[in-house]
Amino acid sequence: MTKHYDIALIGGGASGLSLLYAMHLQGVLGDYRILVLEPEAKNDNDRTWCFWTDKSDPAWQMFSSTISKSWKHNFSASKPKENMAPYQYVQIRSKDFYAFVKDVLGEYPKIEYRTEKVKQVKQGPNLQLICDSESQFSASLVFDSRPPRLEDPELIWQSFVGYRIKSPQNQFDTEVCRLMDFAVPQKNGLQFMYWLPTSVDEGLVEFTRFGDEILNEKESKPIIENYLKALGIEEWEILEKEINKIPMTLSLNSKFSYHPKSANYIPIGVRAGAVKASTGFAFKNIMDHSWEIAKALKRNEALPLPRQSAKHNYYDELLLNLFQKRDSPILKIFIRLFEKHPIDRILRFLDEKSSFREDFLIMYKMPWKPFFWSIGRSLLK
Ligand SMILES: Cc1cc2nc3c(=O)[nH]c(=O)nc-3n(C[C@H](O)[C@H](O)[C@H](O)COP(=O)(O)OP(=O)(O)OC[C@H]3O[C@@H](n4cnc5c(N)ncnc54)[C@H](O)[C@@H]3O)c2cc1C
Repeated sequence: MTKHYDIALIGGGASGLSLLYAMHLQGVLGDYRILVLEPEAKNDNDRTWCFWTDKSDPAWQMFSSTISKSWKHNFSASKPKENMAPYQYVQIRSKDFYAFVKDVLGEYPKIEYRTEKVKQVKQGPNLQLICDSESQFSASLVFDSRPPRLEDPELIWQSFVGYRIKSPQNQFDTEVCRLMDFAVPQKNGLQFMYWLPTSVDEGLVEFTRFGDEILNEKESKPIIENYLKALGIEEWEILEKEINKIPMTLSLNSKFSYHPKSANYIPIGVRAGAVKASTGFAFKNIMDHSWEIAKALKRNEALPLPRQSAKHNYYDELLLNLFQKRDSPILKIFIRLFEKHPIDRILRFLDEKSSFREDFLIMYKMPWKPFFWSIGRSLLK
């Protein structure tokens, strides 16, 4: 007989576990019989999440105790030590996040974890979950965080090759991080480096590309090496690698704010369109969404989709168009953004929390011609 649950989560990663933790904080987790289906043990540091925070967001409020390093200053070519106040840039290692949430969830005997990979979800009044192992379960409500299938022919990816390094030189300035440092060769899209010194002798260096061709380690390695040498770092060993990609697309976003009250299949995480299309950042949006879902469950209200801003989706669309343009002006646009504006304004804009005045200031100082081209392209689509 198929075992039935009130709620099933497909995937126990960032969105699945944060949803359970948000339900715990909202005091509703004990109300349900819950099944988590996840093929991996989730004991390793399979990724490092970074985001900026002014401490008002659910990501900070739920997970500040798992933050392993924060930076108050950013380096850019025009501003070598810019204070990011009221923001700081913070890092959570996924290993700490998984352990923290699982520890709390251990208090709930009605949550069952199974090492299973779901291959099919069959719709009906109760959803049927069929796993690769042929095990079957059913649930009244399903949250699905499997990676989405993407069919957008113009898909842009944020791809990256990152090394966590340790150097015997003991010299890193741990006060200042480097977000989007464009002092790297440009090829096949927009390329930049992150440098996040986590201690005087350890740091994460990550070479990143926004483009349709995916970065590989072979082409990234010499660029990372040259970058580290330019920072004065001559010797290092690699402790961890982070090589992956994130889709930068609006095709997963919905125009609706809520699911119908009767909906029993709810995508979450990247699958629900939580990635900000123009930056690839998703963690904060995912935490927001989890918090709002947990609140809605508590109040027995319709479940929300990830927060949307039609205005900012349109800005993202204009930027994504520019990646497709021959001789793309995207590098010039990003450099100008960092040169002409205080970083807190940029971060608020990327958080979709900027005022119309701030949006105007940002637009006013952009090179206009490419945006007219982009508006035209959008109109013709
Ligand atoms: C390496 C990496 C670094 C990132 N860094 C940042 C960052 O610094 N800042 C930021 O804002 N965003 C970042 N992101 C983007 C985003 O925040 C993460 O991808 C985040 O983990 C997405 O959460 P999720 O729940 O959608 O997916 P995941 O966290 O990947 O969770 C999905 C889970 O589903 C499981 N699963 C897959 N298939 C099945 C199946 N068939 N059945 C059952 N379970 C299945 C997977 O094993 C996984 O555990 C990063 C992404 C990656 C890949």
